[in-house]
Amino acid sequence: ATPTALMVGTGRGAQLGILIKGPEVLESTRRVDTVVLDKTGTVTTGTMTLSGVHPAPGVDESELLRLAGSLEHASEHPIARAVAVGAAERAGTLPVPEGFENLAGLGVRGVVEGRSVLVGRERLLAERGVAAVPAALAGAMAAAEAAGGTAVLVAWDGEVRGVLSVADAVKGTSAEAVARLRALGLTPVLLTGDNRAAAHTVAREVGIDEVIAEVLPHEKVEVVRRLQAEGRTVAMVGDGVNDAAALAQADLGLAMGTGTDAAIEAGDLTLVRGDLRVAADAIRLSRRTLATIK
Ligand code: ADP
Ligand code: MG
Repeated sequence: ATPTALMVGTGRGAQLGILIKGPEVLESTRRVDTVVLDKTGTVTTGTMTLSGVHPAPGVDESELLRLAGSLEHASEHPIARAVAVGAAERAGTLPVPEGFENLAGLGVRGVVEGRSVLVGRERLLAERGVAAVPAALAGAMAAAEAAGGTAVLVAWDGEVRGVLSVADAVKGTSAEAVARLRALGLTPVLLTGDNRAAAHTVAREVGIDEVIAEVLPHEKVEVVRRLQAEGRTVAMVGDGVNDAAALAQADLGLAMGTGTDAAIEAGDLTLVRGDLRVAADAIRLSRRTLATIK
């Protein structure tokens, strides 16, 4: 590959809203056949809102919101932000937790108003010995997930006390972006730490058949490695801190410019405006640039 033609590709990339780490990056896209897409913040807007509050029988709604909101206020996770904002709106001032621990990919835990509180996914509660989700809350959980959202479980003193539904919207451009990737002969794969039901709902909405869900943050890189071991050449698109290792492992890492610094540093390319359609442009551009060189 001649450096000059690669530099031209790099310049054209800038015009399209693609920042390229170095001209050599374009070479690695040549054989890409699989594009792994992070769900939250990449395929969806990542701007979440608290859309439903479901206390267990006998639990006070405002207490549920206060205890959950108090812990989530201390976390920077988009789900946590939605819970904290929604809880403050509905229940007023949130108490300051006495202890707080962030459990990546699972949720948060801490002590609020003398109670030992857990907020997060079912797996977190199971790992910490909380009793099973009561039948009265199963419906609310299933409904939140079937709608493509996340059911956030709240437990204290060993029992599930309620479910909070958090909703996220698919970006208006995501379905077209997936169609463009397919038109280039690439296979899209949706990768998320979120629950299976929500992941499949989003996948169906944008036209993705292959879904890998309920993956812990540190397991995302393993998924990319596994796909590579199957002989696939993998591009990964992500925005979060938890995507950084996977972006670095991928044959081509594309970071959303709207995402975290960790993702941008780990990626080979940055999609400046966070428009997923540009991922297809990036791959097409580099193929063209390489074709010119040959
Ligand atoms: P993603 O891969 O979709 O960006 P994460 O790996 O950050 O998601 O989290 C995986 C899942 O763990 C979330 O979908 C959510 O169910 C749960 N979770 C993580 N952090 C929190 C939190 N602070 N509050 C509630 N739930 C959380
Ligand atoms: Mg994300």
